Amino acid sequence: MEKVVIIGSGCAGLTAALYAARANLSPLVLTGKQPGGLLTTTTVVENYPGFPEGVDGYELMTRMQKQAERFGARVKFGTVEAVELAKQPFALEVEGEKMETETLIIASGASHRHLGLESEHKLENKGVTYCATCDGALPIFRNKPLVVVGGGDSACEEASYLTRFGSVVHLVHRRNELRASKIMGERTLSNPKVKPIWDSVVTEVLGVKEDKVTGVRLNNVKTQAESIVDASGVFVAIGHIPNTQLFKGVIDMDEQGYIKPRRGTETNVSGVFVAGDCADRVYRQAVTAAGQGCAAAIDAERYLAAKRQ
Ligand code: NAP
Repeated sequence: MEKVVIIGSGCAGLTAALYAARANLSPLVLTGKQPGGLLTTTTVVENYPGFPEGVDGYELMTRMQKQAERFGARVKFGTVEAVELAKQPFALEVEGEKMETETLIIASGASHRHLGLESEHKLENKGVTYCATCDGALPIFRNKPLVVVGGGDSACEEASYLTRFGSVVHLVHRRNELRASKIMGERTLSNPKVKPIWDSVVTEVLGVKEDKVTGVRLNNVKTQAESIVDASGVFVAIGHIPNTQLFKGVIDMDEQGYIKPRRGTETNVSGVFVAGDCADRVYRQAVTAAGQGCAAAIDAERYLAAKRQ
C-alpha cells in the first residue's frame, strides 16, 4: 500500500512529490495525460523565481521531476480512471491497475478552455496562446497588433498586460458587455491601446499556410457581418476547466468544479488534500501552484504522523 499518491505532475504535483519524498514517504506521482502539466505547453517561463534569463516550460518541469525523484519520488505515466474515497485505505484504478493509498493529493490542474477551431489548434504556440503572463513578452508579439478573446477578468487582465508589448490589443467579446468585474473592465477599456470588438466571435485564426498567426476572421453575431483583423498573436482567455470530473459528488467543489479546501489544503474527505489549479480560480501561477503543492505534502505528512501516534 502507498503512503502518498499524488494525482498530477504539474508544479503542484511535483512540488508535493519533492516535499513528501524528503519526508521519506516515497510518494507515487501519477502523471495524467499531460506529464509536466500545462506549463510544458508554454515556451519561455519568465516569472518563475530563480531563472533570471527565463526557463523553457518543459525544462522547468523536467528539472522538478528529477529533483523529486532524487529524493525517492516515483513517477508513473497514467491517468486515474476511478477512485474510491469512502473508506480507508483509498482505492484507485490507473490504466486498469488497482492500487491503495493512505493519503491522496489531488493536483490534477485545469485545462484552458479552447475555442474549438481547427486553425486555433494548428497555430498553437505559433501565435495562439492561452497565457499572456507566460508568453506576452515574446519577441514575436512586440509592437504588433494582438487579439485577446473573452470578456471576463482573465481577458481584461491579459489585454491590459499585453498593452505593454503589442502596438494595439483588440479585445474580442461575444456580447456587448464584459463579464469582468467593474473595476477591471473600466480599467481595461480606459486603456487607449485596448480596442474592444463587441458581439463578435472568432471563426478562424488566420495564418495556417504561413505557419504563424497573421490575423483572425470574425463574425458579428448580431449582424452576421464578417471581418478580418490583422494580428500576430491570439490570446484565448475564455475560462478554464478544472480537471476534477473524477471527484464530482465526493469531494466538495464549487459550481464550476474547483475543489473547495476546508482548512489549508484539506478537503472534506480526511486524508485527501488538494493543491494547484484544480482548486485555484484566482492566481493560477506556477509559483502559487508549487507553494500549494508544498503545503499539501506537509499536511499529508502531518496527517500520517498523527495517524501513527
Ligand atoms: P470567466 O469569468 O468564466 O469568463 C470567461 C469569458 O469568456 C466570458 O466573458 C465568456 O463570455 C467568454 N467565453 C466563454 N466561452 C466562450 C467561447 N466558447 N467563445 C467565446 N467566448 C467565450 O473566466 P475568467 O475570466 O478566466 O475568470 C474566472 C474566474 O477567475 C472569475 O471568477 C474571475 O473573477 C477570476 N479572475 C480574477 C482575476 C482578478 O481578480 N485579478 C483575474 C482573472 C480571473 P460570456 O461573458 O458571454 O459568458
